[in-house]
Parts: sequence; C-alpha cells; structure tokens
Amino acid sequence: MTNGLDARIGSGMTRREMGRGALLASLGALTACDAASDSHAAADEHSPWRRDFPVLNQTVNGRSLVYLDSAATTQRPAAVIEAILNFYRHDNANPGAALHTLARRAYERYEGARQTVAEFLNAAQPDEIVWTRGSTEGINLVARAWARPVLRPGDEILLTLAEHASNLLPWRLVAEHTGALVKYVEVDADGRILLEDLDRKLSERTRLVCFSHVSNVVGYINPAAEITARAHRAGARVLIDAAQSAPHTPLDVQALGCDFLVFSGHKVLGPMGAGALFARRELLEQMPPYQAGSNMAHGIDLNTQDYEHGGHKFSAGTPNVSGAVGLAAAIHYVRSQDPALIEHHETELTNYALRRLAEIPGLRLLGPKSAEQRVPVFSFVMKGYTPPAILKHLDSEGIAVRAGDLAALPLLRRFGVTAAVRASCYLYTQTEDIDRLATALLQLTRPGAKES
Ligand code: PMP
Repeated sequence: MTNGLDARIGSGMTRREMGRGALLASLGALTACDAASDSHAAADEHSPWRRDFPVLNQTVNGRSLVYLDSAATTQRPAAVIEAILNFYRHDNANPGAALHTLARRAYERYEGARQTVAEFLNAAQPDEIVWTRGSTEGINLVARAWARPVLRPGDEILLTLAEHASNLLPWRLVAEHTGALVKYVEVDADGRILLEDLDRKLSERTRLVCFSHVSNVVGYINPAAEITARAHRAGARVLIDAAQSAPHTPLDVQALGCDFLVFSGHKVLGPMGAGALFARRELLEQMPPYQAGSNMAHGIDLNTQDYEHGGHKFSAGTPNVSGAVGLAAAIHYVRSQDPALIEHHETELTNYALRRLAEIPGLRLLGPKSAEQRVPVFSFVMKGYTPPAILKHLDSEGIAVRAGDLAALPLLRRFGVTAAVRASCYLYTQTEDIDRLATALLQLTRPGAKES
C-alpha cells in the first residue's frame, strides 16, 4: 500500500523524524486503511496485537501478567512460535544447496530468511548480512575480524557514555590487543549523545565510532544518520548498535550510511540466539574469518581452502536455521502491520506512561520527559526504595520489570545513581498495563508502606 506517509518516508524522512503531529496528519490522510485505523482507534487502550501473544494470557503470583520487560526481550507472537515448530515438523535437515530434498528445503528457508533480514535493513544485497547470535556477537565479530587486524597503537575508538556493556567491553579488548585508545563522547543531562562533544573528540586518529541508536536506559533515539555523517567526514568507520531501535524505528542502512549495524532477533519478536550483523560488502571481503570450520570455506584440504564470500565467510559450522526461520517470521509479522499504527500506539503509550509516572510521589524518571524522539522505555528511581525492592514488590503484583545497573553503569552514574528500575513496552503493551504499574508504585508511597 502506498500512501502519503510512505511517500514521505521514501523521501528519506523517518517516521520518528516526522514527529507526532505530522504522523497523525498522515494517518488522517490514509485512504485504503481508514477502516483499519478506525478499528485501531482504541488501540491506545487495548492493543489489537496483544491477542497474538499467547504468553501474555496468564496469571503470575495470582494476578494477570503485566509484561514490562520488552527491552530485555520481547514476547513472541503465535506466528513465530508456529514457524519454528513447522520448520522442525516439516523441513528440518542440515541445510545444503545440492543435497536431498529436505536439506534443500532447509537451505531455501535459511537463505530466504537472510533475504528477509536484508530487506528489513534495506541492505543492498543479502550477502551483506551475517547471521549472529545477537547484537553482542555482532559487535564482537567486528571487533575481532575488522578492528583487531586494522587498528594500530594511538588509533582511537569513540564510544559514548550511553553504551550498553556489550558495546563497551569488546572495544576495550581491542584496545588491549592493539594499543588503540577508547574515548567516550559525553551525553547531556537526559542521556542524549552530545554532538558538540562528538565533534570535539573526532580527529584524524579516530578509526571507529560506535554508538547505540536508541539507549536501553532512556529510550532516546539518537540522530544516527547525522552522527554517522560526522564520523565519516573525520574518516572514521561507524558501527550502529540497533539492539533497541530495531523493534521501534524503521532501519535503512543505506540511508543511515553506516559501515556496520547489529541487532538481536529476540528484541524484535524473534527467537533468542538469532540476530544479524550488516556490514558493507567491501569490508566483509577485507575481514579475515571470525571463526573457521565447515560451511565457511570449500575445498578444505591439508594446506588449502577457498573461503566463501560476504556474510557466508562468517558462519562456521551448522547454522541456527530454526532461529533464522523464526526471525524471518517475526519480521514478516511486524512488516504485515501498519507501521504508522504501531508508532501511533507507542506514542500514545509513551505520553500516557510519562503522565502516570509523573503522578508518583518521589519517583524520578531518568532521561527525556517528552514523547519526542523516544521509544516507550522508562527507567526510574524512587526515594526510599532500592530498585531490587521495587522489582520485588512489582513482581508480587504480577508485573515484570527489570532492575539493576541495566548493563549501562556509566550512564546511570551520569544520572548520579548506580541502579534503576526499567519498565519497557512494545506493541502488545496497553494503557491498563501502565495503570497497573502506577497503582502498584503508588501503594509503595502510602503511609505505612514498608521502606526498603
Ligand atoms: N546493546 C543494547 C543497547 C542492548 O540493549 C542490548 C541488550 N540488552 C545489547 C546491546 C546486547 O544484546 P544481546 O544480549 O541480544 O546480544
């Protein structure tokens, strides 16, 4: 379906960049899906996607489950669960292009899934997709196979203070092995990457800039194309950690202009253990293998071998075909929904949650207080209660959140804390879930509630 909204997105403007007003205007302009948008009008209260997620239909600790931990891992729709079951029921074999029928079918499913991921990221060719276990493995792969052979003592890797541990530690290992230096770009008081500090720290010594598109703590959507352009002007390569953006924002590696991008399938409704790395084809050709073994080379004799090319060079051994099939099913599920409606739902949820959380006495929300340029991820602390104590109380009410350093201690320290609670939403979250969270938090603030 082509509509005014798609045309504007085609012009390079992302949905998030359009802002909510423009988005709603575009929604109003939809013609073919007017009926659908009517039926989704109540989506802000009752997610129409929710019924597709069987796991949500249960009680936990005597209460109906409220799942607010989607930034850690999303739930899976029945379509994904069935795709994985069907693979094992009908198509399971060790894949191979020129083998028996079942092996060929498994191969076609596996390579079809690579094509689906390439389309999801708008990669120029499926060969630019490397299967990984998730974002962490994708970052480690680039660190080992690109950075370690290329970086020299005195070269610099620029990270930011808002990175997840998985986008910190691999680069520190690279620095230890190569003599390169890791530097950190500052963030503002709400955890947004400071572009002026990026410019200050970029130099001819900068070889690589790595940053999270969306922070897993504050949910802010950093201007990834702009950061990439600035880094490229300084001659650096760019890796985008899209672990938290893949679920919420359209990704287009060609429009972003990045050299590498990673994401995790389990954060986009897919199975755990299946994710992808996008890398420019010419970089993949330069990079030595990450792991070696069968399937990434042929003609393997005692002293000779011919390595495969593109993404295939980085998949040693029997691949995770069911994971790839499940991830492709997840992408098909997301792509079969109207993205404008999902964004509308998430924006409404964000506004609602910001309002409800602001009502809780003693609650301090970390990060931006408006719905602009952010996804529905809310980290907070509460006067008088430790994050683990809050988590325990919420869990007893059937509400699943995350608490601790959120694998982002440097950013938490920037906020003056070492631990926080995080409530994170996805398309199946509804305002009732936020109400349950707010009610349970208010209970803690009533006179007589036990302080931790
Ligand atoms: N980066 C960010 C921003 C994340 O939120 C996460 C997961 N919490 C990761 C990287 C690592 O993802 P995974 O554990 O799926 O490899």
